[in-house]
Amino acid sequence: MTIKHLLKPRKCPQCESIAYKVLSEKDGFEFAKCSKCALIYVPNILIENAHISKELVTKPNVDYRINSPKVARIKTVFKFLNKYSNNKDKVSILDFGCGNGLYLKFAKQLGYKNIYAVDINSQAVENARSIGAKSFCGNLKDWNLPDEGIDLIVMDNVIEHFENTKETLSECSRILKNKGIIFISTPNIDSFIIKMLGTAHRHFGGAEHLTYFTIPTLCAICATAGFKPASIKTALEELTITRMLNIVLKRNLLDYDFDSSEYKEKQSNAPAPSKSSKGNKIFINIFKFFMIPFDFILINMTNMFKQGAYIDSFFIKDTQK
Ligand SMILES: [Zn+2]
Repeated sequence: MTIKHLLKPRKCPQCESIAYKVLSEKDGFEFAKCSKCALIYVPNILIENAHISKELVTKPNVDYRINSPKVARIKTVFKFLNKYSNNKDKVSILDFGCGNGLYLKFAKQLGYKNIYAVDINSQAVENARSIGAKSFCGNLKDWNLPDEGIDLIVMDNVIEHFENTKETLSECSRILKNKGIIFISTPNIDSFIIKMLGTAHRHFGGAEHLTYFTIPTLCAICATAGFKPASIKTALEELTITRMLNIVLKRNLLDYDFDSSEYKEKQSNAPAPSKSSKGNKIFINIFKFFMIPFDFILINMTNMFKQGAYIDSFFIKDTQK
């Protein structure tokens, strides 16, 4: 099937060059390396922003079944924020691409008063409003937030979706206070799993994921908006022993005990774990007890070599000379 008639050319989002080398093809989309700056991107994307019309929050039941790597990531973000400021009445947080609103829920539960959310998905925005976030459905630049009002911007698996990455980062920079924090989590194209699977990996989907970052290319594009790296780690979300067992048993072994009635209500609506899980409980607990240290070592080893499937990075806006 050819989709050439649905595509439009796109310049390299980092250096605007049009010279590239195609690395691979999948589902009619090309994945290419910029000949000038080495960024990996989709050089021909769907017309009419077709990638953004796909609903991000289509499976609420699945979304609410929180997995532990996601929770670990959120906790890291709030720990970092707390070092920056613990004044929860004054600090402003923007969840850019809020999805299921998990960051917003944590922020609210931790006592932050000024929470903002933007998403292109109306269901996500409705959900964010119900949590109490000032919300906007659409593109960030159309919201016209005031200059330098936000302390923390969260972009969890969002940056790879942007068509005009530099423009969007520049808008983030405009609304972020000087020395404010931007947290970016995105698939790591230098990871072990992608070296193994190549474009067969689910991260590669040219309809939605338009740019593919390594740590150096992410830092380079962030630098154009005046963002300086403060902490960069890679996270292993797949291939851990407990995660693989989760997939096999179709349940979240390390489901986080989210202390909120709303979450519990949503969780009770989620499909119940298989019947056999009760009988397996003792086995699972013993397994967890022995396997968690192994996973801990695995996760840390992977991070040491920057081979985790995701880049979890904090940048600080530093525009003053
Ligand atoms: Zn380039």
